[in-house]
Amino acid sequence: MGMLDELKRLDQELDSELKQTDSLSSLEALRVKMLGKKGQLTALLRSMGSLSAEDRPKFGQLINERRERFTALLDEKQKKMQALEQEMRLKAEQVDVTEPRRLPEVGTPHPNTLVLNEVVDCFTGLGFEVVEGPEVELDHYNFELLNIPKNHPARDAQDTFYIDDNVVLRTHTSPVQARIMTTRKPPIRIICPGRVYRADEVDATHSPVFHQIEGLVIDENISMGDLKATLAAFANRLYGKDIDVRFRPSFFPFTEPSAEVDLTCVSCRGKGCRMCKNTGWIEVLGCGMVNPRVLDMCGIDSKKYSGFAFGIGLERITMLRYGIQDMRLMYEGDMRFLRQFR
Ligand SMILES: [Zn+2]
Repeated sequence: MGMLDELKRLDQELDSELKQTDSLSSLEALRVKMLGKKGQLTALLRSMGSLSAEDRPKFGQLINERRERFTALLDEKQKKMQALEQEMRLKAEQVDVTEPRRLPEVGTPHPNTLVLNEVVDCFTGLGFEVVEGPEVELDHYNFELLNIPKNHPARDAQDTFYIDDNVVLRTHTSPVQARIMTTRKPPIRIICPGRVYRADEVDATHSPVFHQIEGLVIDENISMGDLKATLAAFANRLYGKDIDVRFRPSFFPFTEPSAEVDLTCVSCRGKGCRMCKNTGWIEVLGCGMVNPRVLDMCGIDSKKYSGFAFGIGLERITMLRYGIQDMRLMYEGDMRFLRQFR
């Protein structure tokens, strides 16, 4: 095959391979194959030694023309491919800022927690400190120090789970009062939120596990007026300024005198409805002046100091706050219920 045919073949080979090249790396391979030190065009240049002296310059010029042409074609293709690759990269990296973000599912506080936060906020604003105590409690703190000796009938209403004869699951948050009174000197101003236990069947208003918030104030000259004003501040904060507080005489072993506290019905605002049995009032909590006997048992001089205590059922006030009819909803973990408190 003559040199001219060989050049023609190289022209065709380059043209067809350029068409097939689809990446910068294969383009570079083609450049080496044609123009590199061991490339086909270079090999052709080397073989010129076999030509006659007059043919040599002619072929030399033809080969140089090829070199220029090949270089130009390869450069052009390279530019095109670089531009294409950049375009594709930009496309891949493109961010649509108008596309809606997928937010992760975030949980929501339990209604009990929402109301407890409000209650804590209210009482800390009045100068109370939040104190907690153990749920597994000594009979001594849960009953004895609160003036509920063994065989006292008040124990029947607070039947609980016994670990042994002297250790119980606490039936109220009041033992935290006893723990604080035996270890601190007045003035004392605390609330004690926490979980409590009773041997109760589950129904719309009862659960063997529920929550209380205990309040205790002990100082000189503390009166029932202080108690009433404190509970009114709490009721107004949680349910509104138009809510009134009403005391009815009652009995608790650790307070004397004791009272049940009614609030203006939060549903009808006092007009009378099914929820308040048309009385305009709803019973919400128990309270009283700390029994002097309890103060003395806890080592506080009842001649110098007086105090008041109250116990709030967290579930009760939460259900009133949100109009929840059945206590069991609070424990079932049904998302359709819980999502309403976002
Ligand atoms: Zn009502």
